[in-house]
Amino acid sequence: MQTFFENEKHTLGRRQFIGTSLLLLAATALKASPINHLFSDAAEGPFVQKPLGYSFDALEPYIDKLTMEIHFTKHHTGYIKNLNKAVEDTAAKNMDIYQILEKVSTFSPAIRNNAGGHFNHEFFWKQLSPEKTEASSKLNRAIEEQFKDLTNLKKQVTDSAMKVFGSGWVWLYVNNESKLAISTTPNQDNPLMDIADHKGEPILGIDVWEHAYYLKHQNKRVDYLNAIWNVIDWTEVSKRYKEALR
Ligand code: MN
Repeated sequence: MQTFFENEKHTLGRRQFIGTSLLLLAATALKASPINHLFSDAAEGPFVQKPLGYSFDALEPYIDKLTMEIHFTKHHTGYIKNLNKAVEDTAAKNMDIYQILEKVSTFSPAIRNNAGGHFNHEFFWKQLSPEKTEASSKLNRAIEEQFKDLTNLKKQVTDSAMKVFGSGWVWLYVNNESKLAISTTPNQDNPLMDIADHKGEPILGIDVWEHAYYLKHQNKRVDYLNAIWNVIDWTEVSKRYKEALR
């Protein structure tokens, strides 16, 4: 009996020691890497996922919480994981995302799909907001010049998005004549890629993959497209427009 208790005491002591050590290790890891610990699944490599900046339910009722959560934690995280795997032992490993996109034709399809997937989603999250925002006067003038007014721009973006066959994106971008234009790309391609039919600086991108809307809108892509204008961050789009003109 005596021996049993002594052994038990000894074991508990060791367990406590191991437990405390693990806690200390975890605390050190959290302190060293505040972003990585949140999205540790995607952190094995040069590309990491930035925090969303608002809660998953912040865009309700226009984009529902479950769609946001799955889209961010499964789809976007997946692209980052696969991108980190795909760049291993390639020249892309030491490039930033813009450098990869502008010579994406020289890399594997896995790099093209996942570099696009990572860039496009980070770009998408950042241009959404629960706040009411307005386009700058500079962007408004450009919209009026190119599309008559904002209503007509929205209509043309929606019409283009409806014509995307299968999965892809619709873009508002600044072309090489510094004019606003609309284009669409298949899969996870974008206007920054050297293989894009219409190249330029994107300022607004809408994900028209079914995973972006199917849970709430099922097959009704147009309902999603009509809803998303309520949560576009025009302050961010205006900032991008200003930068694209430099
Ligand atoms: Mn998506």
